[in-house]
Amino acid sequence: MQLRLSTRNDVRLFTASVVVAMVCGSVLLNFMIMPPDLMRKTMISGAVIAMMLSAPVAYFVGTRLREIHDLNQRLRQAISFDPLTGAHTRTNFHSRVAQLRRGPMSLIIADIDHFKAINDRFGHQAGDTALHQFANALLDNCRASDIVARFGGEEFVILMAGTGARDGLIAAERLCQRVRDCPITVEGTAMNVTASFGVAGLKDPAQIEKAIRAADLALYRAKAEGRNRVCLYDAKIDMEYSPASADNAV
Ligand code: GH3
Ligand code: MG
Ligand code: MG
Repeated sequence: MQLRLSTRNDVRLFTASVVVAMVCGSVLLNFMIMPPDLMRKTMISGAVIAMMLSAPVAYFVGTRLREIHDLNQRLRQAISFDPLTGAHTRTNFHSRVAQLRRGPMSLIIADIDHFKAINDRFGHQAGDTALHQFANALLDNCRASDIVARFGGEEFVILMAGTGARDGLIAAERLCQRVRDCPITVEGTAMNVTASFGVAGLKDPAQIEKAIRAADLALYRAKAEGRNRVCLYDAKIDMEYSPASADNAV
């Protein structure tokens, strides 16, 4: 059993419960060990002492338990969600994916184009604002059941359950267009930002690492072919666009 004290009222209720239990315990003990002639005299004083001792201790313990609960919540939030963008963290992405059932799924990797240039031109803080708006564009244009995670600096991964590779490609095209059409505003200046997308299909959550590698290869191809586009993984052509060969691409 886990004791969760999340509000002040929970602490008050916990304190009251402990005090009542201690008073009852004291009365019961009185009945059991005291001779009948002394029992009446000691019962009241025993109950008052039990109440006075247990109330501050229970309140102190309750308050600490509430703090532990708050800390736990914040820790869970920090482990599960990226503080800058609100997207799932990599750890949370994997635990969510592991809960999915077999079926058609799409894995999309999105990476902002020439993001370093935004940082260089406007500064790191402006880059953070751009990242936040980019993540919002992805989150706003995905379904609640899609798992949107930030995997690296300006790289996001989206798992669409119940969406096969072809539909995943259409969804990624929509996201790409949405990013292209909506300028990002940094310090009052609107900037046109684009992103490249790699898409791979999978049927089993256990294949997630394989799908991530496949979508990554498709993303390298999208970058190599000029960025601002979507590529669907194709086993026949994507080996040519391994990271080593894409390093030479513009
Ligand atoms: P490409 O089109 O090939 O993806 O080019 P790019 O410039 O987007 O990619 P590159 O990997 O060269 O640079 C990524 C940059 O992202 C470099 C790094 O400073 C920046 N970055 C990573 N994490 C953050 C962050 O949290 N905030 C900001 N502002 N920048 C970040
Ligand atoms: Mg990039
Ligand atoms: Mg990147």
